[in-house]
Amino acid sequence: MEWNELLIRYGEISLKGRNRNVFVKKLRNNIKDALSDLKTVIIKPERDRMFLFAEDKSDMEEAIARLPHIFGIQSFSPVAKCEATLEAIKEKALEIIGANETAGKTFKVEVRRTDKRFPLVTNELQLEIGSHVLRSFPDLIVQMKKPDIVLLIDIRIEGAFLTAKVYEGAGGMPVGSNGHSILMLSGGIDSPVAGYLMMKRGVSIDAIHFASPPFTSDLAKKKVMDLAEKLSSFGAAVRLHIIPFTEIQQAIVSQVPDNVSMTTTRRLMLQIADKVREEEGALAIVTGESLGQVASQTLESLTAINAVTSSPILRPLIATDKLDIIDIAQKIGTYDISIRPYEDCCTIFSPSNPKTKPKLEKVAYYESFTDFEPMIEEAIEKRLIVELPLQQKDDFEDLL
Ligand code: ATP
Ligand code: MG
Repeated sequence: MEWNELLIRYGEISLKGRNRNVFVKKLRNNIKDALSDLKTVIIKPERDRMFLFAEDKSDMEEAIARLPHIFGIQSFSPVAKCEATLEAIKEKALEIIGANETAGKTFKVEVRRTDKRFPLVTNELQLEIGSHVLRSFPDLIVQMKKPDIVLLIDIRIEGAFLTAKVYEGAGGMPVGSNGHSILMLSGGIDSPVAGYLMMKRGVSIDAIHFASPPFTSDLAKKKVMDLAEKLSSFGAAVRLHIIPFTEIQQAIVSQVPDNVSMTTTRRLMLQIADKVREEEGALAIVTGESLGQVASQTLESLTAINAVTSSPILRPLIATDKLDIIDIAQKIGTYDISIRPYEDCCTIFSPSNPKTKPKLEKVAYYESFTDFEPMIEEAIEKRLIVELPLQQKDDFEDLL
């Protein structure tokens, strides 16, 4: 079957009222970026859908392979064009239906008549084409509700456009259409999933990682770079900031009692993340925290941690069960990276008996004996910045 164009449906972004243009523009740019190595692609956005043309057949196939990974697309269909005459439409309809398995399948025709000059009205054309198809494929069964095959016919001024195939899109919103945030990326299972979910919601991200060499190894660093690279395959480049955290962690261990040191560690990480957030012009901080998962993720702990900043902290996994998080991690391909056995700074410095209900005043009191500020400044100054450009291809199966 020779396809002339792809019809791309937006889904949720088309509900966005006056902001729609911003969303559509972003989606168009994201699709362009994702396909920028293909030579012959042209994208034409319209109010509630977009058309993609590729002169080269292999470019068309590559576009079909990549579109399911671009957020903001609800679904898309390869479309064949013919002259807007009843005869030409009938012929094309048979060709398209013939490319499908028809035995025992249910079927209907749906017409959209953008060009009102076409001599038959919608109902007439539906009937005419439906019965023509049934004469050639008598094993098809007509069904109006949720049929297996829907033959869509769009009559436009430039011609008639037909399709019977709908590919599911990744849903969500175009990355970058909902602003920019800083993701606190550990080497664990949760934070990459949190980053993915925010990207799916249209947020582009910078990632920040705290490393404590020589206690944490180069392989732990590589693991985080691989995770950030994986995230860069979901529609936008990711900048990764690796913060040298050893000196601060050693100061915490020597100055703050064991049972609140985890809270202090988190508070210092958050302060640093917040400063980097400001430098990068990002609006919020994203973490992989999930309520009750560990001592530092009780409501009391989160309260004590939050107190260091008034910036919004987004925790997309706060109410998600671990098994469900693992499920997403496996689907998006971060799981296998996350389970590599190289520990991050928290695991290594983790106290044996952290308080599950730390009191903010107590934590602040213990911290007050140490001047962390110069250490924070130095850590930010000495950070390593790794740019991970948008990955155009990846091996993920279906996204969520
Ligand atoms: P994850 O699986 O994301 O590591 P976790 O269940 O191990 O999460 P914690 O270790 O308590 O939970 O970390 C909670 C959150 O704090 C992480 O999801 C991440 O956002 C942030 N975080 C923890 N350690 C680091 C680190 N070394 N660098 C950057 N962020 C971190
Ligand atoms: Mg962790």
